[in-house]
Amino acid sequence: MKTLSILGSTGSIGTQALDIIRANPSEFRIAGLTTNRNIELLKKQILEFKPKAVAVMDEEKADELKPEVNAEVFSGIQGITKIARLNEADTVVNSLVGSIGVLPTIEAIKNKKSIALANKETLVTAGSAVMGEVKKNKVTLMPIDSEHSAIFQCLNGEDIRNVEKITITASGGPFRDFTKEQMAKVSVKDALKHPTWSMGNKITIDSATMMNKGFEIIEAHWLYSMPYEKIKVAVHPQSIIHSLVEFRDGSTMAQLGLPDMKIPIQYALTYPKRLSLAGKRLDLAQIKKLDFGEPDFEKFPCLKYAFEAGKAGGTMPAVLNAANEVAVYAFLDGKIGFLDVAKIIKKQMDSHKAIKNPDIYEILEADKKARENSVRAIEAKDF
Ligand code: MG
Repeated sequence: MKTLSILGSTGSIGTQALDIIRANPSEFRIAGLTTNRNIELLKKQILEFKPKAVAVMDEEKADELKPEVNAEVFSGIQGITKIARLNEADTVVNSLVGSIGVLPTIEAIKNKKSIALANKETLVTAGSAVMGEVKKNKVTLMPIDSEHSAIFQCLNGEDIRNVEKITITASGGPFRDFTKEQMAKVSVKDALKHPTWSMGNKITIDSATMMNKGFEIIEAHWLYSMPYEKIKVAVHPQSIIHSLVEFRDGSTMAQLGLPDMKIPIQYALTYPKRLSLAGKRLDLAQIKKLDFGEPDFEKFPCLKYAFEAGKAGGTMPAVLNAANEVAVYAFLDGKIGFLDVAKIIKKQMDSHKAIKNPDIYEILEADKKARENSVRAIEAKDF
């Protein structure tokens, strides 16, 4: 039996992870849960899963929750980090959104927890430091993302030195066939309509700009020690092939499935076991055809910036991520247009001199500066 703490249990990945746990009560127990501020849902989760402790990011909401539940209630980032370190848990599911997820991951690893990682920012901003801690503490880090789960499955039993190329597939998002002129005018509602995946707001916008794919390139680089030259992106609108690995003998492995996040979530939680999972099954005769194309780096500059930031290394990916995070929320708030997101990121990257081999504090400092500068640039409409 595994004992889990879930960071971000009220979000899209967190609730789906709890669905899997509910369906497999003899496999899992819950030690801790956290939410940003959704205490109504957290209350229900506490009643059902009986964690020892929970954390609420929002201090006021944490105070509101305290008298109402039979669990220890912590607050703020310190509270979330406490849940990441809980003695009772052997595995931490990190489904936090944003670079707020970095420190709890590191704390969990230092406390010898296995990690099931959905928080992209952990590896995007601090890949070198995090993978260093994973090795040092001899813990496993399982990706929850569909693409990295696919790559992991294609690499099962293989020698990484035999890999010639990794191809990460991308749906292309809702604006795949839009012109730049059309993209300049899209609304928040348009950008939140993802054609194949159902996900949280932040990641759905990242998919529309294709920054999400950019993050996945950087994550793949760290997870599988793959140089950027060996990582490709293929646009595949149906999201059936989740990624491919090509070996030196010309053989290519791919992992397929209907786009359902529960598959990679469950695999990350049960590996090396596979458990039954209810749901529709892939029927190729019904799908009939799968399409593929090259990504358009001019139309989706975020993808290009991610490759550049990854190759520049050091603190540059943290700046890419921080500027993106601020810009995406500004877009969601109606403060900037869709194409401005990329401009804000470019400006921050251009003005940043990457620090080589940064420690976690230098990374967090670069993150903070880029965030402040991005907020200022948006307020002054200077990007
Ligand atoms: Mg993905």
